[in-house]
Amino acid sequence: MSQLSYIRHGDIAVATVNNPPVNALSLGVRQGLMQAIEASRADKSVRALVIIGGGSTFVAGADINDFGKPYEEPSLYAIIDALMASPKPVIAAIHGTAFGGGLELALACQWRIASPDAQIGQPEVKLGLMPGGGGTQWWPRLAGPEVALAVTTSGNPVTARQAHEWGVIDRLAESKLLEDALAMAQDVLSGALPARRLAESTDKIRGVDPALFDEFRKKNARKWKDQLAPWKIVDCIEAACRLSFDEGFRLEKEAFRECEHSTQSRSLIHLFFAERAAGKLPDTDAAVRPAPVATVGVVGAGTMGAGIAMCFANAGLPVTLLDTSDEALARGMKIISGNYATSVSRGSLPQARADVALARIRTTTDDAALADADLIVEAVFEDMEIKQAVFRRLDAVAKPGAILATNTSTLDVDAIAGVTSRPGDVLGLHFFSPANVMRLLEVVRGPRTAPETLATAMAVARTLRKIAVVSGNAYGFIGNRILGAYGREADFLLEEGATPWQIDRVLTEFGFPMGLFAMRDMAGLDVIWRIRQQENLTRPAHLRYSTIADRICEMGRFGQKTGRGYYLYDGRSPTPDPEIEALIVDVSAELGITRKEIPDAEILQRLLCAMANEGARILEEGVALRAGDIDVVYVNGYGFPATRGGPMWWAHEAGLASIRDAVTAYHQVHGEYWTPSPLLTRAAEAGGDWDAAHIFSHPPTTTTGSASDA
Ligand code: NAD
Repeated sequence: MSQLSYIRHGDIAVATVNNPPVNALSLGVRQGLMQAIEASRADKSVRALVIIGGGSTFVAGADINDFGKPYEEPSLYAIIDALMASPKPVIAAIHGTAFGGGLELALACQWRIASPDAQIGQPEVKLGLMPGGGGTQWWPRLAGPEVALAVTTSGNPVTARQAHEWGVIDRLAESKLLEDALAMAQDVLSGALPARRLAESTDKIRGVDPALFDEFRKKNARKWKDQLAPWKIVDCIEAACRLSFDEGFRLEKEAFRECEHSTQSRSLIHLFFAERAAGKLPDTDAAVRPAPVATVGVVGAGTMGAGIAMCFANAGLPVTLLDTSDEALARGMKIISGNYATSVSRGSLPQARADVALARIRTTTDDAALADADLIVEAVFEDMEIKQAVFRRLDAVAKPGAILATNTSTLDVDAIAGVTSRPGDVLGLHFFSPANVMRLLEVVRGPRTAPETLATAMAVARTLRKIAVVSGNAYGFIGNRILGAYGREADFLLEEGATPWQIDRVLTEFGFPMGLFAMRDMAGLDVIWRIRQQENLTRPAHLRYSTIADRICEMGRFGQKTGRGYYLYDGRSPTPDPEIEALIVDVSAELGITRKEIPDAEILQRLLCAMANEGARILEEGVALRAGDIDVVYVNGYGFPATRGGPMWWAHEAGLASIRDAVTAYHQVHGEYWTPSPLLTRAAEAGGDWDAAHIFSHPPTTTTGSASDA
């Protein structure tokens, strides 16, 4: 029993799980639990069993690496059966976290006691899975179907106090957990707590109106779209209210297996590991320590600067927001207070917390006010001269060792760093809009960025609860570079016969929350138009170039902000516009292209292959460290459906040889942009996986049932 100790406290046996760091339900733990249950059963002098976690937590979850593999006995199922059949009361004593299979282990015990600060939950849905150890059957019996639905379909953790109110936890520990658990066992033995069989309990599930489930499905239909797991969860909870425990559990097992073997689950598990790996810097010495960041400056109080200031204020850091005029600052503060007011009115933020956060932001037009800042983030206009001027000023006032970051979307971070006397302290922090909402942060490492600067930026990202992905200092970094590649392909598809609404429909049917053209309209077409005008000065003349986007801007159509872009807008809802279709048809005619109907499947294949091929180039150039990093960027910053794992994972699942063949065929028809990336070709030849040097970097043994601590 090396992963489990079994000792006696008088007539009560205590089984302590010891599988650091999170006491995951490994084979060794399962064997130990089974032996402990059997030993307590066989030993007449043992009258009750307490199961508790050693170290900082109860059993935090199943081992994610076990999903999709054949079950090795004793499985969790066998343990649950043994617990349910145990003639002696078993008490789960929970501290730290009890998630997923770990929680189900506790739910199968007759009684549960928890430290008040413990957390429980069924996070499986976040990995495309569902509770598989009876969770959908225990929860409605303990807390009623409404709570069961909310907890299991959201995957969010629940505090022990809340769970106690719901009746899922029977008692909160008042002093030492083990002592209180032993006392609880004595209460059970003395009859002070009545004997019970939860599987037979029907108080909370009797006479439930079936409409409850249909309404819940209807309410969430849009959110869940083509996801498998949440629908299955509702089916199983509904079954719990109709069937016996055993019948419901059987149904749950079948549904779990279906989820476990789904592409969705594989994709979400890939992302879980990819997000964890993204925060690690494989080429940085572990001895490099991040510098503390306690005060922050933000330069530019526009859309991005305002959101960035909120991020830091929300994380508890004082922020000094600088702009050129009091009017600009007032505009910025209006954006900020408006955002807080919206959160308060939606009920997602208490007024008091909004007030505290707002009070952390002070404004200034005086550079000297930034002298104390440990980190200064610049978010002024996207113009090299303006940014360089700002960095010269920052260099003059910032204290030694302060980190100077630019939020540029397209400019050369090194050219910005170059105007300072401290290029090692400069890097890019590319926030996404709205910065206070979007979790992605591209951390752009310039050629002279010091390892300490990078390490500090990654630590800052953790403070902000952002998912940081390191990018090399190359045009468009990771996300916008790929957006450029597939956006270009979408423009060519328009010239060849597609319409913006067809392409957008194909993308939303694939799972993007919004189509590409609707997204451009939302972001504003003029910003990127201005950037294109600059780029056009140096663009090689022989390369194919679509003028459609420029012509739309020349018509004064800048998207939602002007009520017209690719679409017509009434408020924010887009309507296809015949004027745009006519313009596109004209462009095709001018180019001598005979328009043809393009099947949806071809549109999707061309867009996704363009993403994957560009992604492979980005990897080859070392702009991204791992294929998984690209997926993390695309899912968290660009709406790529998480259930499909990101563009690189999509290609991997489709088979790299078939992607290479498709790219090669497009190259023959559509020319230079489609040159297959050498990495894609090599990877396809090497057996259909990305080059070993650019694997998805899944750690082999990381274990936890929680997707929320990624
Ligand atoms: P914006 O026009 O809304 O705001 C820019 C702000 O900078 C204005 O308040 C302006 O007064 C101020 N400013 C200009 N020059 C200044 C100076 N010399 N000193 C101090 N303040 C100055 O622009 P934005 O959309 O917030 O973009 C800012 C930066 O963020 C750009 O580099 C942009 O490329 C980048 N970015 C934008 C987005 C986006 O979606 N808007 C996303 C990621 C990155």
